[in-house]
Amino acid sequence: MMIVMKPTATEQEVQAVVERVRSVGAGTHISRGEEVTVIGAIGDREHVARLELEGYAGVDRVVPILKPYKLSSVQFKHGERTVLDIAGRKVGGSNFAMIAGPCTVESREQTLETARIVRDAGWAGGTLFRGGAYKPRTSPYAFQGLGQEGLRLLAEAKAETGLPIVTELMDQRDLDQVLEVADVIQIGARNMQNYSLLAEVGRSGRPVLLKRGLSATLEELLMAAEYVLKEGNPSVMLCERGIRTFETAYRFTLDLMAVPVLKELTHLPVIVDPSHAAGRRDLVLPLSLAAAAAGADGIIVEVHPHPEQAICDGPQQLVADDFPEYMSRVLAAAEVAGKALATV
Ligand code: PEP
Ligand code: MN
Repeated sequence: MMIVMKPTATEQEVQAVVERVRSVGAGTHISRGEEVTVIGAIGDREHVARLELEGYAGVDRVVPILKPYKLSSVQFKHGERTVLDIAGRKVGGSNFAMIAGPCTVESREQTLETARIVRDAGWAGGTLFRGGAYKPRTSPYAFQGLGQEGLRLLAEAKAETGLPIVTELMDQRDLDQVLEVADVIQIGARNMQNYSLLAEVGRSGRPVLLKRGLSATLEELLMAAEYVLKEGNPSVMLCERGIRTFETAYRFTLDLMAVPVLKELTHLPVIVDPSHAAGRRDLVLPLSLAAAAAGADGIIVEVHPHPEQAICDGPQQLVADDFPEYMSRVLAAAEVAGKALATV
């Protein structure tokens, strides 16, 4: 249930409702919007309904949320969009984000060179730098990432360029170290339903980029987001990165319908990853243009100074020298959808 307070409601009136809801064993989640405060009551619906909260001072109306996900549902913010603030970069609403960098951190030179190109692409104010120190590889024999050394190189890239860092966390035992450098914690497709990991990043309070599982429905994705939000962390962006279908001509099928449909279901920003969907560099630009024009709140794309030498995902990584041109074309498509990079 969602209890929408009147714009004139006082803090005491909000607290009185919160206490009443908690008295029947339900949890509460307060969302303070620009105009009104909304209290989410999470627990047994019958118990909460019996409280007849409509009659309480300061309460405007009580609205049931019919979906199994509550905090992420569009109803929860009644139309208002979540705009994340990532070290001064805005993501969501009319703000477009460009998250670019190599699949994995391989060396100091490769990391810093890519970070400089991303920064110099001309719109440093709205871009973020990605790079994995912990890599979820299908084969246990493949390169697993540089781990702590990779995090250290990301910290160096951040110190030099000022770009906020997006990096993946696979194991909660690495959380403290990842928190030292990550402005956004990426939860990879293969961990989308690792619920204890989701709760842990929820408790950390750090913004999260949550990738859709290879065969996850949108409802499952939103339920996964709910695990993070439920811990009091409101900063979640969802990421469509391609799903598995019967088609074998490309790595995954980029589900662009997910963009407008997620926007209908949730207030959270939706990012698209064309690189992992395509598996091929030549498809990255057309998919990015389509995603941006479809209203995505941002793109996460792999870029490498010498993709032919990359340790992983070489065939899909954009050549770093081509990145500025790629970026200006994608931003033009984002503009079609009414979005622009938000400078600090
Ligand atoms: C990645 O972003 O490098 C990655 C491994 O992505 P995904 O989890 O979507 O496969
Ligand atoms: Mn990759």
